[in-house]
Amino acid sequence: MFLSYIFLFFYVLKKVKIILNMGGCCAKRDYCIFCDYQTQKVVLENERLVLFEDIAPMAKHHFLCIPKEHIVNINSLTKEHIPMLEEMREMATNYLLETYRNEGVTNDNIVFGFHIPPFTSISHLHMHCVILPYNNFYYVIMNDYLILRTLDKVIDNLKKESN
Ligand SMILES: [Zn+2]
Ligand SMILES: [Zn+2]
Repeated sequence: MFLSYIFLFFYVLKKVKIILNMGGCCAKRDYCIFCDYQTQKVVLENERLVLFEDIAPMAKHHFLCIPKEHIVNINSLTKEHIPMLEEMREMATNYLLETYRNEGVTNDNIVFGFHIPPFTSISHLHMHCVILPYNNFYYVIMNDYLILRTLDKVIDNLKKESN
């Protein structure tokens, strides 16, 4: 009896999911909020990358840089992605330095970081671009030690792989 309730629960869940996915004419996978980046506050964009404001900023200035291609997280990256990561760095750095020049922002104030799986928020690779300081001490601890891996470290790890 109990088991059949569980079965029913998952059955209903599956049906609801199918209904929710019917938004597009023939959506093949779940909706991804970052593939649908036009809904974000985009500040910069090219054929491959988008830079937009983070909706839950951890600092006064906090942006996200994403590839338009749906890459899940840093575990999906290979050496071939290093040029893309460097382009992300370049796009974000140029934008932040230019936009916030009069606030005294330099390369030393800027942090670029990626979520470390399984601590991912949205399953579309996104680089957090934060101008320090963080809004509170909680973020300092969380980001520096637990949930974010810096861009430099991500690139270093990829270079070390299969050398
Ligand atoms: Zn996506
Ligand atoms: Zn995030």
